[in-house]
Amino acid sequence: MNQPAPPPLPDDPSTAYFWEGTRAGELRILRCRSCGFYVHMPRPVCRNCQSMDLAGEKVSGKATLYAFTETHKAFHPFFVSRVPYLLATVELAEQPHLHFLTNLVGIAEADVRIGMQLEVAFEELSPEIVIPVFRPVAAMAEGSVAS
Ligand SMILES: [Zn+2]
Repeated sequence: MNQPAPPPLPDDPSTAYFWEGTRAGELRILRCRSCGFYVHMPRPVCRNCQSMDLAGEKVSGKATLYAFTETHKAFHPFFVSRVPYLLATVELAEQPHLHFLTNLVGIAEADVRIGMQLEVAFEELSPEIVIPVFRPVAAMAEGSVAS
């Protein structure tokens, strides 16, 4: 059975830094060069100082879980074989309220706890499309991953 192709990347130069980052194994978040404030989702103006001098910058990949839900319906044929999966909002360690929408992997829904420590991992959907996902930090340390 052929797996459908993943949805294409948005044709948007303003998010190129992000996808170049994931292909390089880095999570890059837009950061203001004037005041150091991180901005996500991407927008052209810093919401802290109104500077337009923003650039993607590598972050630690550390985060805490802010909210999550288990998804049972795929929004694109590529994801049909992946449901159910965990959709999560995480708070990146770099800045309070720096929220990032992602998938939670390596843990069963029943074991998920708000506030748990997470770290980024990268999943290659195609040579062009590498998505950042988050997994529990403890799963690596203990060498056991819930499935
Ligand atoms: Zn700023």
